Amino acid sequence: MFDSREQDFTPHCSRWDPDTRPIKRQSQKKTRNGNGFSFCLLMFLCGWIIINNGTRPVLAADAEKQGEPDWTYVQMQPDDVHQGDLILVNQEYACTFPNMEKLVVVSDTKSESYLVKNEQEKLLPQTVEALNSLMDDFLTVAGSVRINVISTYRSYELQQQLFSQYSMQMGVELASHWSARPGHSEHHSGLALDLGAYQYGVTQNYDGQGVYSWIGENCHTYGFIVRYAPDKADITGIYSEPWHLRYVGVPHAALMAQRQLCMEEYIEWLKGFSWEGDHLYYGMESGVYEIYYVAAEEDGTTVPVPTSGEYSISGNNVDGFIVTAYFKDGIPERTEKE
Ligand SMILES: [Zn+2]
Repeated sequence: MFDSREQDFTPHCSRWDPDTRPIKRQSQKKTRNGNGFSFCLLMFLCGWIIINNGTRPVLAADAEKQGEPDWTYVQMQPDDVHQGDLILVNQEYACTFPNMEKLVVVSDTKSESYLVKNEQEKLLPQTVEALNSLMDDFLTVAGSVRINVISTYRSYELQQQLFSQYSMQMGVELASHWSARPGHSEHHSGLALDLGAYQYGVTQNYDGQGVYSWIGENCHTYGFIVRYAPDKADITGIYSEPWHLRYVGVPHAALMAQRQLCMEEYIEWLKGFSWEGDHLYYGMESGVYEIYYVAAEEDGTTVPVPTSGEYSISGNNVDGFIVTAYFKDGIPERTEKE
């Protein structure tokens, strides 16, 4: 299922063996009275991570970092659980319409390599950016065909109209397997879009077959998943929709594709990598990702993040936060010290 791009892109996932993983961490969490956190000291950098053909990345050895704590803390509000690139939106978990002010008009920000239905279509900037890259590369393999993006962000009211139409045509029960109920559509998030097949000036149904199969097989490289796979319908509640892409970000899309997990399964699986326990490490050509879960607390949540490297925090829209940290030169050695 991987094409030639994969020769330069060979992600692998490793849950480190306790004896070899670079972090030795006892169960430790910031005390909420805040009277002095237990910070870890960055001591020396050693160890190694095997990625891609056994090459060993240089670790982030930086003498100036010595003496700095390994972790710092970010305070998240209760509503923050419902926003971020990894929110799970389905029949059980509604979208709360976060960050709608950040939506951008696709026709203003897209590349030339695909079409969009009209000038009202909107998505979040990170979705358009990833879509531009995906479509630019698709163009090099597609020949005369193009993609027409036919559905993007939807308001509650628009989803209500669509669901009513489906319900009138096929009854509410069947309609719910083809279309999400209002408030429960991924299209509310600005992270999802529907593809149409465009050729000779005509837009047709996108079935993901033929030349279009390249998109389904490679979209994870760009941070997208085909959200509703035929073999996951009993979990997602939605029948196969090869045209519906969902942006989740590069390491997560690649992990889901590699492990063949749908979004529901992935969000549940990540809960096994808590901050206090083993983290998930994922080596890619560009660096190493460290991923872990922090359960949300009712009155706000203190999320530990590494002091080195880059990180992002996303709510899962269920019960917690997922931290995704990125280290270009590998995971630094960390040492706990009271
Ligand atoms: Zn869709």
